[in-house]
Amino acid sequence: MDAQREELELFRDTVARFVETEMVPQDPRWREQHHVDREIWRRAGELGILCADVPTEYGGMGGTFQHESIVHEELARCGISGFAAGVHSICAHYLLNHGLEEQKRRWLPRMASGELIGAIAMTEPGTGSDLQAIRTRAVRDGDYYVVDGSKLFITNGYLADLVALVVKTDPSERARGISILMVETRDLPGYRVGRVLDKMGMKAQDTAELFFENVRIPATNLLGATEGHGFKQLMSDLPYERMIVAATAVAVMEGAVSATTQYIQSRQVFGQALSQFQNSRFKLAEIATTTRIARVFIEDCIAKLVSGTLDGATAAMAKWWCTDMQQHVTDECVQLHGGYGYMNEYLVCRMFADARVQRIYGGTNEIMKELIARSMLDGAR
Ligand SMILES: Cc1cc2nc3c(=O)[nH]c(=O)nc-3n(C[C@H](O)[C@H](O)[C@H](O)COP(=O)(O)OP(=O)(O)OC[C@H]3O[C@@H](n4cnc5c(N)ncnc54)[C@H](O)[C@@H]3O)c2cc1C
Repeated sequence: MDAQREELELFRDTVARFVETEMVPQDPRWREQHHVDREIWRRAGELGILCADVPTEYGGMGGTFQHESIVHEELARCGISGFAAGVHSICAHYLLNHGLEEQKRRWLPRMASGELIGAIAMTEPGTGSDLQAIRTRAVRDGDYYVVDGSKLFITNGYLADLVALVVKTDPSERARGISILMVETRDLPGYRVGRVLDKMGMKAQDTAELFFENVRIPATNLLGATEGHGFKQLMSDLPYERMIVAATAVAVMEGAVSATTQYIQSRQVFGQALSQFQNSRFKLAEIATTTRIARVFIEDCIAKLVSGTLDGATAAMAKWWCTDMQQHVTDECVQLHGGYGYMNEYLVCRMFADARVQRIYGGTNEIMKELIARSMLDGAR
């Protein structure tokens, strides 16, 4: 094993141990209360697991997306969907890629330590896929922006301390009217978190509605220095975001196949192990094959992202295909578990319910296919 692989495997062991010993036992309680505990973010920060691919000068681990994907994979493999490190990392990457030096130094070290929990707020009650139609308004008033509006379905919304808030600074424009404000939420007058939403799955994830009424945000919190760059900033980071979703999908498949392989060997039906029936064996072979293909594809995409050669269409392919396969594979795993597969205490049950939204957020899978077709037919990438 070369030194780099060895270092990655050691990091994987650290993350896996942390997830298994400090997160898995707490997951049932987190799912009950619909959010994780703030302390686990601090603990992840102490272990250097947050912002794994952020340079050390900003408090990160100084790794690459290979390290970052290991974090998301090890969480996913154990069905820990409430600790939304992906959204946290995406928020950090907006800062890293588009923030002013002063902004990076102000927020990134506190995100890496877990002191600040990050969120991204794009979606609104009136618009999701059509991001350019957002209505949350930011009006410049001296050294401040005054923000009015609301955001819906915001991951980490209940706990978030730092929100990358997508606003309209010029409502007469579509894409060119969009900017991103970094909002520190603690004790912020006019800012209110609505109820934590009751979802089909991802029960431990605090998905919430956010309200802004006459909220004054310092103008120095505008991401980058120029108004109207928000849409471009969002678009340039989408492959990163989609790779987190896709890598998660592949690790869920691996975790589900592993749990199912064990289950069918231990379950006795008609006097023999379930694994002795041809249908069980064929199904297992099929989902193992799908999972392997997904792994090979995702490794290629990760390598391309690390070398800076991952194009938007390929990232979109990874996002839609891996999440569709995640749904299919977890469904087959539930079926092989019989009634137990429908019980929340079984990993495959939680994985199946959690999988559904992967095809919806991060850009719906229909939007992914549109982007791929556009890159083929219209020459746009
Ligand atoms: C659990 C959860 C967590 C989320 N986390 C976040 C978050 O942290 N931050 C955030 O900003 N948002 C978040 N979202 C919102 C998510 O990104 C949106 O739900 C998603 O983008 C779809 O938007 P929509 O719900 O308005 O659906 P719509 O845009 O109304 O889409 C409805 C349907 O129409 C299809 N459709 C739309 N446009 C087209 C088109 N041009 N061609 C073909 N079909 C189309 C869609 O694919 C979909 O099937 C989250 C959502 C959920 C459920």
